[in-house]
Amino acid sequence: MICPNCRAEVAANKFCSNCGTALTKEDKMSRAEFSVAWVRDILRDLEYDVSEIKKAENDAESFTARHKARFNLILDYRGSLRVLLVTSLWTAKAPGVLDRAEFFKALNSLNSDIVCCQCSVDEKSLDSLYIQYTLFVTDIVSRSDVVSFLELVDSITNRVVHQPRAKAILG
Ligand SMILES: [Zn+2]
Repeated sequence: MICPNCRAEVAANKFCSNCGTALTKEDKMSRAEFSVAWVRDILRDLEYDVSEIKKAENDAESFTARHKARFNLILDYRGSLRVLLVTSLWTAKAPGVLDRAEFFKALNSLNSDIVCCQCSVDEKSLDSLYIQYTLFVTDIVSRSDVVSFLELVDSITNRVVHQPRAKAILG
C-alpha cells in the first residue's frame, strides 16, 4: 500500500515502515465493508469538492466530484454488481446528418486504441461524451487502490481527450 503521509510503497502493517505513521483500519475495506461514503471521503481528502450521495432505485448510489487541477468525475456504485463506475463527462459536438458517420468512426477508432476505459456518447443528442472506468470491488480494497485508480483515471482521460481523433468528437 501507499502510506498516506510519506507516499512510500510499504507493506500493509499497523505503522508505515518508512515514516512511522499509523496506518488506520480505514486504509483497507473488505468487500462487505466497502461503501460509497468511504470512497467519497477519500476523494474529499484528495481535495475534490464532493456532492451529497444520491440513491437510485436500482440500488445504485452516486455522487459528483469536482477538482481544481483534475478532471471532474461522476462516481456511481452498483452494489449488486460490486463495481464502481467512474465517468468523466465531456461536451461533444453534436454532429449534423452528414458528418454523423465521421463522428462514429472517430468514436470507434478512439475505443479501438484503449483497453482500460470506454468512450460512449449520449445516444439521443450525441452532445455528451462519456469516458468511463470500472473499479471492481475485490475482497480487500485499500485506500491506496482507490487513490492509484483515480490517478490513472486522470492521466488516461488526459491522453484520450488530447488524441487527434477525440477532436472530431469534442466541441
Ligand atoms: Zn509513511
